[in-house]
Amino acid sequence: TKYSKDDIRAIAAKENVKFLRLMFTDLYGTIKNVEVPITQLDKVLDNKMMFDGSSINGFVRIEESDMLLYPDLSTWMIFPWENEHGKVARLICAVHNADETPFMGDPRNNLMRIIDEMRELGFTDFNIGPEPEFFLFKLDETTGKPTIDLNDKGSYFDLAPIDLGENCRRDIVLELENMGFDVEASHHEVAPGQHEVDFKYADAVHACDNIQTFKLVVKTVARKHGLHATFMPKPLAGIAGSGMHFNMSLFNEKGNAFFDENGPEQLSQDAYYFLGGLMKHARGFTAITNPIVNSYKRLVPGYEAPVYVAWSGHNRSPLVRVPIARGASTRLELRSADPSANPYLAVATVLAAGLDGLKNKIEPPKAVDRNIYAMDEQERKENGIHDLPSNLHNAIKAMRQDEVVKAALGEHLYENFVEAKKLETAAYRQEVSEWEREQYLTMY
Ligand code: ADP
Ligand code: GLU
Ligand code: MG
Ligand code: MG
Repeated sequence: TKYSKDDIRAIAAKENVKFLRLMFTDLYGTIKNVEVPITQLDKVLDNKMMFDGSSINGFVRIEESDMLLYPDLSTWMIFPWENEHGKVARLICAVHNADETPFMGDPRNNLMRIIDEMRELGFTDFNIGPEPEFFLFKLDETTGKPTIDLNDKGSYFDLAPIDLGENCRRDIVLELENMGFDVEASHHEVAPGQHEVDFKYADAVHACDNIQTFKLVVKTVARKHGLHATFMPKPLAGIAGSGMHFNMSLFNEKGNAFFDENGPEQLSQDAYYFLGGLMKHARGFTAITNPIVNSYKRLVPGYEAPVYVAWSGHNRSPLVRVPIARGASTRLELRSADPSANPYLAVATVLAAGLDGLKNKIEPPKAVDRNIYAMDEQERKENGIHDLPSNLHNAIKAMRQDEVVKAALGEHLYENFVEAKKLETAAYRQEVSEWEREQYLTMY
C-alpha cells in the first residue's frame, strides 16, 4: 500500500499507536529492530533516526558506527497482537551512512541495486512467490525451552485429529491475514510436525519483506500454542527437511515475460535465457540460497530436495521445475533455496544469475524429465548434469569462482559473508558428532 507521511501521522494518531519498530535485516538474515516511542515519529519520517551500526553482524566497524534509518513508507503496518503498553507499528527501513548515501552492507539496499539493473533491461518487476516450510516442536513444560519432540505424527495433506498442528497453523493464517497477507493455501507437509503456508507472490523486495514478517508471525503464534517453530533446514535426520522454494517470474509492461503462447512449452525465449543463467550460476549461488552447515543435510537424495543442477517441466527432483500454470502464472520454481537463507541476498543473486542468462543469451541444457536419482554417474555425465555443492565449504569455493554472484553481492556483503562462513565451517570441522561415536568408538 502507498502511504504518505501525513497518512501515517493520521493513522498513528487515530489508532493510538504508542511504539514504532524500525526494522532491517543483518547479513545472516536476522531481523533487527530499533524501537522508539511514537513521539519520535516526525524524526523517523524525516530520515533522521540514528543508530549504532557497529553492533550489527556484518555491518560496520566502531570507528564509523553512526548510521541512519530511512523508512520505506509502503511497509507501514500495525501489529495485530495487543500489548499492555499500547499498539506497536513497524516500518522496514533502508540503512544509510551518516553522509546519507545508501549503506551497501544492507542486504535490502543491495537487492534494490540489482532490481535497478533489471529495469535497465526493460523489465518492470521480478515477482517471487516463496514457499517456506517449517517444523513445530514442543516446548519443554518446565523449562520452556524448545525440545525435539514433534507435536504430531501427520503427513502430507493430513487432517485433524492426526494433525495437532492444525490449530496453530490456522492461528498463523489468521494473524497473517490480519497483517494484510494474501494466504493462498496452508497444509501439513510430508514430515511429521512439518507445515507450509503459501502466500501470494509480490515484487522481489516486498516478497522478501513478507518472508521476514512471516517468520516473525509463525514463531510468535507457535509460542502461544506451547510450540517452537523452526526454519532450520534439516532438524531431524531420516525425514524430509524444510525448503523455501522460490516461484519466480519477470514482468514487463505487457505482463508476464516468461509466457509466450507460441513458444516451445509456451515459454518465451526470455524464460529460457533466464533459466540458462540459473543453471550456469546454480553452483555459485548455492552458498547464498543454502547458507548454513545444516543446509547441506537437506540437499540429499530421497526427500524431494534437489541434489543436481537440472530442470524439468514434470518431475520434482530437479533444481528448477516449470509448474504447468501458464498465462500470468507462468513461472520457474527454484527448489534448492531453504528458509535459513537471507531472502534479500538469495533473491539478489538468483536474479543476477537469470539476468546474466538474458544479457548473454545463455541457452539452458535440455530438460531432464526422468528421475535423476535413478541415473548412474555415467548417465548423468552424458546428460551434462552437475552436482550441487555437497557442503558449505564447497559451496563457498564455488561462489568464489563465480564473478556474477560476487558482483550481485557487492564487495562489502561478499567479503563479510565469506569471512563469517569461514569461521562457521572451521568451527564445525572441530566438532565430533554422535554418529561418529556410534560408528567408530567400539570399531577401533
Ligand atoms: P507447489 O505446486 O510447488 O506446491 P504452490 O501452488 O503451493 O506451488 O505455490 C505457488 C506459489 O507461486 C504461490 O506463492 C503463488 O503466489 C506463486 N505464483 C503464482 N504465479 C506467480 C508468478 N507469476 N510469479 C511468481 N510467483 C507466482
Ligand atoms: N520439503 C521438500 C524440500 O525440502 C519439498 C516438498 C515440496 O515439494 O513441497 O524441498
Ligand atoms: Mg512444500
Ligand atoms: Mg513448491
